[in-house]
Amino acid sequence: MENLAKFSFSAVGSLFSDKLLDVFHGGSSPENLRILSMSDKTQLVCPHCSAVNRIPTSRLGDKPRCGKCKKPLFTGHPVELTDQNFAKVIQKSGVPVIVDFWAEWCGPCKMMAPAFAEASALLEPQFILAKLNTEVAQQTAAQFGIRSIPSILMFKNGQEVARQAGALNTQQIVQWARSH
Ligand SMILES: [Zn+2]
Repeated sequence: MENLAKFSFSAVGSLFSDKLLDVFHGGSSPENLRILSMSDKTQLVCPHCSAVNRIPTSRLGDKPRCGKCKKPLFTGHPVELTDQNFAKVIQKSGVPVIVDFWAEWCGPCKMMAPAFAEASALLEPQFILAKLNTEVAQQTAAQFGIRSIPSILMFKNGQEVARQAGALNTQQIVQWARSH
């Protein structure tokens, strides 16, 4: 039994090699190795250095820090997305990501920004909130056919699952998030 458990653990480890960082792994005693499995863990992309971390799901609320840069994985503020990091954050995040598509010239977008930031603090760690400036990340905005801003899109496992156009207040953002 013990050999089997170790084998499955090292198979998982070698698949992802050094691209994944284990946080809170609690040492490497046989007991700890035995309880490790992908289903117990949630992947998170570090908002500071983009490293992919694996956190025991039960400890998402314990202010986890990035295994690489040691900064907090949840900051209480929306993550800034670009054409460069968008796909990675959307695809590698184990919790739903809500993206606010906005622009500098858009009045309602600016009005909604404080509410979105507030919602970010309320919805972590069940959700990750992120912002995408449609004038800077034009490729991504075009890819999702964003015609009206602000628009918020929810992604689960890399797929868009919900979309809402128009400015919302904090309460409305939180309710919208939890209803999907
Ligand atoms: Zn980091």
